[in-house]
Amino acid sequence: MNPFHLLIDGQLVGSTQVLHVIDPATEQVVAECPGGTPELANSAIAAAKRAFPAWRDTPYAARAEVLRTVARVIDENAEELSRLITAEQGKPRAAADFETVMAAAVCRYVASVTLDTEVLEDDASHRVLRRHVPLGVVAGIVAWNFPLVMAVYKMAPALLAGNSFLLKPSPTTPLSALRLGELLKDVVPPGVLSVISDGGDIGPLLTRHPDIAKISFTGSTVTGRSVMRNAADSLKRLTLELGGNDAAIVLDDVDVASIAPKLFALAFLNSGQTCMAIKRIFVQAAVYEEVCTALAKLANEAIVGNGLDPKTQFGPLQNRKQFETISRLLDLAPRYGKVIAGGTVERPGFYVRPTIVRDIEEGNPLVDEEVFGPVRPILKFTTVNEAVERANQSPYGLGGSVWTADSVKGAEIASRLECGSAWVNQHFAVAPQIPFGGAKQSGLGVEFSRDGLLEYTNSQVINIAKT
Ligand code: NAD
Repeated sequence: MNPFHLLIDGQLVGSTQVLHVIDPATEQVVAECPGGTPELANSAIAAAKRAFPAWRDTPYAARAEVLRTVARVIDENAEELSRLITAEQGKPRAAADFETVMAAAVCRYVASVTLDTEVLEDDASHRVLRRHVPLGVVAGIVAWNFPLVMAVYKMAPALLAGNSFLLKPSPTTPLSALRLGELLKDVVPPGVLSVISDGGDIGPLLTRHPDIAKISFTGSTVTGRSVMRNAADSLKRLTLELGGNDAAIVLDDVDVASIAPKLFALAFLNSGQTCMAIKRIFVQAAVYEEVCTALAKLANEAIVGNGLDPKTQFGPLQNRKQFETISRLLDLAPRYGKVIAGGTVERPGFYVRPTIVRDIEEGNPLVDEEVFGPVRPILKFTTVNEAVERANQSPYGLGGSVWTADSVKGAEIASRLECGSAWVNQHFAVAPQIPFGGAKQSGLGVEFSRDGLLEYTNSQVINIAKT
């Protein structure tokens, strides 16, 4: 692998700190890369601040053109970026390829969105305009489950709106983000884009720094609260995409054979390490046995392995800490329910087989907490009202879904779920033009769509007296 660099002030730089990136499929060091020190982070922030006025004053259409070039660069380097995603994150190559394609698609979509000045009033006495102006320096702090696309869906709207942007990837998946920075060195003006990886200490520095106007954060709810506390002193704007414990409510009118593969795929996507995966499966009594049997069969047939093997459907967990958390839950599972598939781990590599736990209720960590790995409980319910009430008991409110042969009834039930996205007969149906965000403890604000772009701006009113 070629050496990796930070991108600061348009320069590719090294660091005295070295990060050892672990391939979760082998537990071996797959690459070394520089880790940002506080001095390097401060110099990146200073460069971003210097670069901001000229980028703000660059015509909108020219900024959009830069994003189209970013999309082209991602496409042209897709093979390398996908390889890095699999190496650092563990997901199968096909999933990494899809992530890379999505990253380019997000850039192209964002480049197509306009933020024209609106005329709010225009009469004999006044002309009132509303502009959408950039904020200044924006920092994007991201998680390790979708390391490339998550970085891009923060970077693209931040840059289009006219901000300078500093990206901090997760300490365990810095490689694809660093390579992206290297590829964009001559595409985005110096200082307008910076990429700085870290060993875990740069996030708090960014969230406290007075010269950063906004933090766009994706990660756990616990860290999100810390980001919000640190941001308070300088009243930073925040977008917080946090944890989820999405419920799927399966009614007894479904065709189990046709929905089971979808439920399974959406519960175990990315080995269960997806914010908006189905995490609690509520099934109406009449079809409970059939759904449990079908999901257990799919779990038993699933191919778990190294993401480089084309046959692999589910890669390892991304890091040791996550593997240990999920292993502890597997130890607890028989205490709270009946494990009907999976329940086993394999080393070396952080492998956990898709695990289904039935005859389980609330009141334990497998149901009440966000399980960010391939372990899913199936809970039985009798009435729809009961299912909605139990689904809404969670402090999280990211997504939720209803599965039924009657989509009108499904939409009515979905509208009663306390979450940012509620789906019928699908889940995790996200797209660049559709806003997504969390209710309750799942976050603040939205990503994607024009609404997501507006989060990188302030609304400025220009009010002109005509007399
Ligand atoms: P995490 O909160 O541990 O870390 C996320 C990022 O924050 C990392 O880059 C980390 O270095 C940084 N960080 C850690 N402590 C910080 C602090 N005090 N101040 C500022 N930055 C800090 O989360 P994770 O383990 O990387 O990711 C898993 C979590 O992310 C899960 O809860 C998952 O649901 C959530 N997630 C949410 C979404 C969403 O869109 N809602 C998407 C993906 C993941």
